[in-house]
Amino acid sequence: MVYEKAPAKINLTLDILHKRKDGFHEVEMIMTSIDLSDRLFFEVLTKDVIIVDSENRYVPNDHRNLAYQAAKVFKKQCGIRSGVKIDIDKNIPVAAGLAGGSSDAAATIRGLNRLFSTGLSNEQMEKMAEQIGSDVPYCIQGGTQLAKGRGEVLTPLPPLPACYVVLAKPKIGVSTKEVYGKVDLNNMIHPNNELAIKALEDQDFQAVCDQMVNVLEPITMNMHKEISPIKEQMDNADADGVLMSGSGPTVYAIVKQQSKAERIYNSLKGFCEEVYVVHSLR
Ligand code: ATP
Repeated sequence: MVYEKAPAKINLTLDILHKRKDGFHEVEMIMTSIDLSDRLFFEVLTKDVIIVDSENRYVPNDHRNLAYQAAKVFKKQCGIRSGVKIDIDKNIPVAAGLAGGSSDAAATIRGLNRLFSTGLSNEQMEKMAEQIGSDVPYCIQGGTQLAKGRGEVLTPLPPLPACYVVLAKPKIGVSTKEVYGKVDLNNMIHPNNELAIKALEDQDFQAVCDQMVNVLEPITMNMHKEISPIKEQMDNADADGVLMSGSGPTVYAIVKQQSKAERIYNSLKGFCEEVYVVHSLR
């Protein structure tokens, strides 16, 4: 049995540069891992099957599961004939903008690499991950990284300075595809990734907060009226930085002080379906 932790990510920035000929958007975004993780357990089966069990009613356990897809690609490319059982203890909210499925897929590649002693390098695992989804290569190593291209051109960055992250997810699921479909390239406020990277290099927490911009935020907010009151509540509670992650709907606040994190958490509990306080991950 092999165990892997699959951490969620938040976007410190998310920019879209243009739409490519292949239909994907060219992105430039800074992501960072947080201490809210799924736990995955891998076992070898003698019969050549892939069994996924997530015990979560929002997550399919068949070929649609991203961990299943990762196992299929891994087995094919590494020539593995035995089967595998994957148990997923799901803690990351689903369809939330936190890359839960992508992180499970990446953890599956890492986990099977250990289970079958295949000795793939991080670069080889990232290449394999590209076939499963745009955020999966980032999730192989996680941490704080700049992601370009579709998300697969990665540059490691200094970590987000240690802080508390308060996450609030309203009771709606957001389709990433639908949000990207509404992108209007002539009408968006872009983040300044150069300044955001400089802030990380300087380990200047407030400067990082000042550079937090996500071009998808106004789009998802327009589609779902539940999101902006959460942002307002976090701002009113004096959060250091507030942003929607990915295509949403999860909104997060980052703060240095524990007392502030608790205040924000308490102000949102009861108001929002799922609220968490976690740490940034270095
Ligand atoms: P991203 O931030 O990468 O856009 P997300 O956090 O918005 O992702 P996920 O939680 O990955 O979204 O779920 C998106 C969809 O993928 C869900 O509708 C879910 O049914 C499906 N899915 C497939 N496999 C998984 C998995 N292992 N965990 C969660 N969702 C999965």
